[in-house]
Amino acid sequence: MTEPLTESGAPLQTDVAIVGAGPAGSATALALVQRDRSWAGRLLLIDRAHHPRHKLCGGAITPLGLEVLEKLGLELEVPHRAPPEMRIRFGGIDQRFFPEPALRIVHRAELDAWLLHRAEQDGVRLLQGCAVTDATLDGGTTTLRAGPHTVLARVVVGADGSRGPMRRLLGLSRAGQLARLLEVFTPIGDDERAAGLDRVARFDFDAMRDHLQGYCWDFPCMIDGEPAMNRGVFDARVRPERSRESLPRVLGAHLQRRGLSLAQVQLEGHPIRWFDPESPIARRGALLVGDAAGVDPLLGEGISFALQFGRVAAATIDSGFARDDLGFGDYTGRVARDPVLARLRTRHRRARLLYGRRPGLVTRALWRLGPAFMRAVYS
Ligand SMILES: Cc1cc2nc3c(=O)[nH]c(=O)nc-3n(C[C@H](O)[C@H](O)[C@H](O)COP(=O)(O)OP(=O)(O)OC[C@H]3O[C@@H](n4cnc5c(N)ncnc54)[C@H](O)[C@@H]3O)c2cc1C
Repeated sequence: MTEPLTESGAPLQTDVAIVGAGPAGSATALALVQRDRSWAGRLLLIDRAHHPRHKLCGGAITPLGLEVLEKLGLELEVPHRAPPEMRIRFGGIDQRFFPEPALRIVHRAELDAWLLHRAEQDGVRLLQGCAVTDATLDGGTTTLRAGPHTVLARVVVGADGSRGPMRRLLGLSRAGQLARLLEVFTPIGDDERAAGLDRVARFDFDAMRDHLQGYCWDFPCMIDGEPAMNRGVFDARVRPERSRESLPRVLGAHLQRRGLSLAQVQLEGHPIRWFDPESPIARRGALLVGDAAGVDPLLGEGISFALQFGRVAAATIDSGFARDDLGFGDYTGRVARDPVLARLRTRHRRARLLYGRRPGLVTRALWRLGPAFMRAVYS
């Protein structure tokens, strides 16, 4: 991996420092270089980890995400499963879909390392193993402390995920808006295999009958080259005033229906910040992208939006430099108008509607109307 050279601790200078080399950070770099190759030498991508690094994630890339990858000029080149069927369960009824193209389920460490490698191949400079811990804006320059390095940047992109410090360090803080997730990897059950369910991505909303504001999932995946299952539970908490369901209890019951028990698996989980249209995502010389800006509160989908945030941020930065105006007052509007990112607002409204109360007779009756209703809610 390329490490930028410094002379005896001299500060690293760059036009744009991108903090976080997940999909959002790498996509920002890739999209800038796609706009103009000369951007490669004007970027510095910084991550606290060394890639490939562990990332908790179901790894499902939806058709929307594949479309964004294509716009970035990329075709998915990492090992993946492509279950042809999606099954969504609610009120004991299964609805079946055969999306075209099919979902792709990847191992996140591999996806992120591949995207980063592509950025590196484009000539983007990279600083790994350096956590950014401080950011100070002085005049038109932000000074970042990144591990042992000092970085002077005209623009900083906060791409450091749900739990990174950039939102706070850039003064774009806003409290709350956290969804909760738990995830486990398990072998494929014999019954599942016999029923062909190792070729189906399942979303089960039945626990909404309790107090879950979300769903449990079972995604076919690969672990160390072997087919396996990634399972988990997502609780949007988009209605924090409603009572809170115990996630281990919900996931435990879900696993039990699959012939598994919580005691057999290694649970991992962390909260993610969902996108709130009222939260600030830009200020002079700084933008937020990906999870740092927020994920979809309806389904917790984040990869496609992270990639598209990168494209929109790149367009904003490119035009800001061209006009010599790095105020980024237009970024929020660009995000709102972007056909992909606009879905975050729609999903925010739908999540508040869907998770507003325990599902009653009306919701169940609508669900029985079938795919038309579901497409309206989940598109
Ligand atoms: C359990 C779970 C399951 C999920 N399943 C799915 C799914 O199936 N499909 C889907 O689309 N989305 C899913 N998501 C959401 C998805 O993982 C995120 O939306 C996506 O990772 C966002 O990408 P990002 O680049 O914004 O952030 P990240 O992927 O989190 O990358 C942030 C990067 O910033 C770095 N970083 C953090 N702090 C610092 C710092 N101080 N200095 C330097 N670097 C720093 C990190 O090391 C990391 O590499 C899931 C999330 C969870 C928690």
